[in-house]
Amino acid sequence: MDVTAILDPLNDAQRDAVTVPAAPCLVLAGAGSGKTRVLVHRISWLLSVEGVTPYGVLAVTFTNKAAHEMRSRIEQMLERPLGGMWVGTFHGLAHRLLRAHWQEAGLPQTFQILDADDQFRFIKRLMRGMEIDEARWPPRQVQWFINHYKDEGVRSAHLERTGDHYQDRMIDIYEAYEQACNRAGLVDFAELLLRALELVRDNESVQQHYHQRFSHVLVDEFQDTNAIQYAWIRLLAGESGNVFVVGDDDQSIYGWRGARIENIQRFSKDYSAARTIRLEQNYRSTGTILTAANALIAHNTGRLGKDLWTAGDEGELIRMYAAYNEQDEASFVLERIREWVEQGNLRAETAILYRSNAQSRVFEEKLMGMGMPYRVYGGLRFFERAEIKDALAYLRLIQNHQDDAAFERIVNVPARGIGDRSLTVIRSLARERSLSMWDACLVALDEKPLAARALNALSAFQSLIRSIAQQIEGLPLYEQVEHMLDGSGLLELHRRDKSEKAESRLENLQELISAARAYEPGEDEVEMSPLDAFLAHAALEAGENQADEWEDCVQLMTMHSAKGLEFPLVFMCGLEEGLFPHQRSIEDQDRLEEERRLCYVGMTRAMQQLYMTYAESRRLHGTEKLSFASRFIKELPLEQIDEVRPVGLTQRNASLSSPAWQDDEPAGFSLGDRVMHGKFGEGVVMNYEGQGSHARVQVHFEYEGSKWLVLAYANLERL
Ligand code: ATP
Ligand code: MG
Repeated sequence: MDVTAILDPLNDAQRDAVTVPAAPCLVLAGAGSGKTRVLVHRISWLLSVEGVTPYGVLAVTFTNKAAHEMRSRIEQMLERPLGGMWVGTFHGLAHRLLRAHWQEAGLPQTFQILDADDQFRFIKRLMRGMEIDEARWPPRQVQWFINHYKDEGVRSAHLERTGDHYQDRMIDIYEAYEQACNRAGLVDFAELLLRALELVRDNESVQQHYHQRFSHVLVDEFQDTNAIQYAWIRLLAGESGNVFVVGDDDQSIYGWRGARIENIQRFSKDYSAARTIRLEQNYRSTGTILTAANALIAHNTGRLGKDLWTAGDEGELIRMYAAYNEQDEASFVLERIREWVEQGNLRAETAILYRSNAQSRVFEEKLMGMGMPYRVYGGLRFFERAEIKDALAYLRLIQNHQDDAAFERIVNVPARGIGDRSLTVIRSLARERSLSMWDACLVALDEKPLAARALNALSAFQSLIRSIAQQIEGLPLYEQVEHMLDGSGLLELHRRDKSEKAESRLENLQELISAARAYEPGEDEVEMSPLDAFLAHAALEAGENQADEWEDCVQLMTMHSAKGLEFPLVFMCGLEEGLFPHQRSIEDQDRLEEERRLCYVGMTRAMQQLYMTYAESRRLHGTEKLSFASRFIKELPLEQIDEVRPVGLTQRNASLSSPAWQDDEPAGFSLGDRVMHGKFGEGVVMNYEGQGSHARVQVHFEYEGSKWLVLAYANLERL
């Protein structure tokens, strides 16, 4: 076997990692140093030199898209197809395990996935049925509570009731939710992982099977694994412990979803024989971008520490643009993209990154106005739109009558005279007898606890679902979707509505038919019916796979979704206090550091040119606010920055040598300093603005929360 294709495009440290003898191994390295490349080449090496079969490889990536890319790059390198290799996200792989072993996992064969939004509605309805006060137990908090414990591997049965009314009630809801999901054959995202873990852990034959099968487990973006994902890796890798993980502690950005940077340190403890390999050369970004990103992340504490250098050019300065408002910001960015394309470059080489999904709308509107194709990753997800979810709910209920979440969603869409009162009766019947909503309807038809009109409506609904199920059996997938849209009355519902919104809903529904037509089940999904496979795909890949994959278009995404990707031209937008760092994170040092890592991730996506923008006033979520430049901008070295609109300087009457965002640090104080105030006590300096006698500092006090103080009057004492 000729291994030059595998080893030539690597530096020495990378080659070391790729060829390391089978044993646990951790590659710890900064952004753009070739971690993902190493993982891909490592798999090729195992397959072609070490004699491992594709069947023995399990590789975990962060998105489904990355999984597809990884597989096709290896296939190219080895010039053969790789049937049997498992590559996917944690959720995708867990789903695959559960489909293959649904019986052992205690699930119905037609189990369906509840995405976050479905889960929320399901919890809300469940609570209504239990007559729980939403003001005291807000459904969002309940959802968070349930997912948090599942992510830690804790079921309701593990939680002890201590007499604390609030907590005990939470546990009651968690317990009822687990039962309701089991009855309805529903699996939420956290459940996918937990149940797959329990399946392998508690089932000897399944465990043995996979231990024998997977001789090598490889994980990308290891810094963002949570407790249960880590337990999963350990369990599947088994005793052999051929676990190869790559990650970067500076890019851990999912702490808010339970990810644990500590897993990196734990790995070296749990696998005491593990080798750690460091990669230090960055191949992605210009020297300028790298210097600035390194300077930013240096503001974080407790880092594992890495040196990152590049042999590449210094490149152009980072352009900083102070926009007047969000409209001006979008115009500026799109104008630069237009120039980029006019110079003969691809639109797909440009990415607009933002902190919050809602920021995409202004860009989208302008892009549409310009007729410039674009794609939004995440956010406005096709499969998350209400009308699409209605349609999917029909399909789910057709597949599995016990699916309560789907039942509730569409039982009266379009309106068919099934009101809240009828549903309350059915719900309590279902709860009393431990039945699904569907079966409770059957009981109701028999025992008649409702007026004849209501019962007729329910019966007609069930007949409708049954008859669509019959009609579509055996049809090609897209015809199944087409028939359902017609038969359910959904198309008619939006057709009758003459508003502009309804028109776009109709278009979306038509688009669902195209999506079904274009859909090809992945290798994992061949054991399922095409419809089940399609529904799972809709739940798992929402937004990742938008139409017209091949079209050259501008890429829009949150900084979170940009992880692992790279683009020649990157725009980071909305760098304002309260937006980025996000308001929720400003007063908590750990969260603030996570935001800073997110900023580091954003910056290190850029290969050639990086633009950073902020708006002096912004309308978001319907209100207009004045805003201040993000502290992250202030943390960048001035030498790497070119201010595009120096208007800000004169406006503020500041000294001409410092740009608009660069207020001097107030005399004697730096960000992060601990200070004492006569009245408010001890606190930490979080931010500052203004100069001279106008200088103000924001201090977060231990007991009083955060306050802006005019420095001249505050009499702060440094501790
Ligand atoms: P991130 O931390 O953002 O996930 P990474 O460490 O996974 O980054 P890669 O995406 O694997 O880095 O590599 C970054 C870029 O550098 C890619 O374009 C890759 O092809 C290129 N690259 C990596 N190693 C080499 C090399 N030895 N020679 C040339 N190019 C390389
Ligand atoms: Mg990577």
